[in-house]
Amino acid sequence: MNYYSTNKQAPLATLEEVVIKSLAGDKGLYMPEQIPALNKDIISTFKDKSFYQIADTVAQVFFGQDIEPEALSAIVKDTLSFDTPVVHVNDNIYSLELFHGPTLAFKDVGARFMARLLGYFIKKKGVDKQVNVLVATSGDTGSAVANGFLDVPNIRVFVLYPKGKVSPIQECQFTTLGQNIVALEIDGTFDDCQDLVKAAFMDEELNRHMQLTSANSINVARFLPQSFYYFNAYAQLDKQGKADNLVACVPSGNFGNITAGLFAYRMGLPIKRFIAANNRNDVFLTYLQTGKYTPRPSIATIANAMDVGAPSNFARILDLFDDDHQKITQLISGHRYTDEEIAETMQNVYHKYQYLLDPHGACGYQALVDEKLTPDETGLFLETAHPAKFKDTVEKIIGQDVEVPAKLQAFMQGEKQSIELTKTFDSFKQFLLAQ
Ligand SMILES: *Cc1c(COP(=O)(O)O)cnc(C)c1O
Repeated sequence: MNYYSTNKQAPLATLEEVVIKSLAGDKGLYMPEQIPALNKDIISTFKDKSFYQIADTVAQVFFGQDIEPEALSAIVKDTLSFDTPVVHVNDNIYSLELFHGPTLAFKDVGARFMARLLGYFIKKKGVDKQVNVLVATSGDTGSAVANGFLDVPNIRVFVLYPKGKVSPIQECQFTTLGQNIVALEIDGTFDDCQDLVKAAFMDEELNRHMQLTSANSINVARFLPQSFYYFNAYAQLDKQGKADNLVACVPSGNFGNITAGLFAYRMGLPIKRFIAANNRNDVFLTYLQTGKYTPRPSIATIANAMDVGAPSNFARILDLFDDDHQKITQLISGHRYTDEEIAETMQNVYHKYQYLLDPHGACGYQALVDEKLTPDETGLFLETAHPAKFKDTVEKIIGQDVEVPAKLQAFMQGEKQSIELTKTFDSFKQFLLAQ
């Protein structure tokens, strides 16, 4: 299958090119020429299948033309060493717990899949050349990508993160690994980090010097595998007879996760509609309300993985719906929450229903409540990170200790190694040129 650029000014590209390059030459994001459909009968068999079996079916339909089936199955199997359970919270609201992977964030799925797929293409090409992955993070991406790519031969990862703006646990997850993982502490915001990465891709001299790619959700191999767990969630609800009129609510930052859900929908997954839940960084909500998209500098919140002022996958959503505002608002609605509202939701849900939300999942839960679902609808919010990743914030809010899972504790033993850089492109470029 070929991929086109959302800006329509770059040549078509193969999956291999798309994964290695990330961004098209015209700065657009790659989109598959077709979105293959899975028929209803196949989807209705998913309730008796494992996550791996479901994901493998979806992956074969999407990527099967470009990778040998056995190799693809192995990549999927290797990616999904954990499950994404659906847990009942109250009434008709369910939590899709995406935090059972190695770094306790949903991004483990996309990061691990991309690392393995990129490793596969590099090996197939037989190039000794190193591929350099640049990734900007507001916290969770860096940890998932660093851990997903750790030890993959011929790949080096540079994690750019805003100094002082990620939680200590998150920071440990990508600054203590060493080996092929380099942490760059940028004196700026997440948007500055993202701008540096984008500028690096556009810089001819740098691109002659080294092969650069991105592991942010602009990369097809990062965001698209996230559609697997929408199918898995549907299957679990279907098994309980709760999958009719499903409303999926996605705490959103760069909008990669919800875009993967929209792809699942286009493939035939029966989701009635979507909700994008935001913190105070609500440019998407403003777009839904006004039809105007106006990127803004990001604002720091307690749901910091959603502190994005210019969501990169917005271009993909527009492309999916032919730039038609009305088509988009028919399928997607939006809500936004302040830190105070997020805290109140976390307190309520913890004390009333004994379910501990993290600040991102709290936006998702509350948006389902505020959407006032009808009794025949089932609400499913994506719980995108384990609450212990935001231990200090969560403890302050609920007034109780939060237990840190052993796999998270293990990261905190290591020693922080990072390189400080200013937010100017020149200092970043000089650093990369010296590599
Ligand atoms: C990355 C992240 C989000 C936002 O996901 P996008 O795909 O960027 O919209 C939400 N919550 C958590 C915990 C995250 O790490």
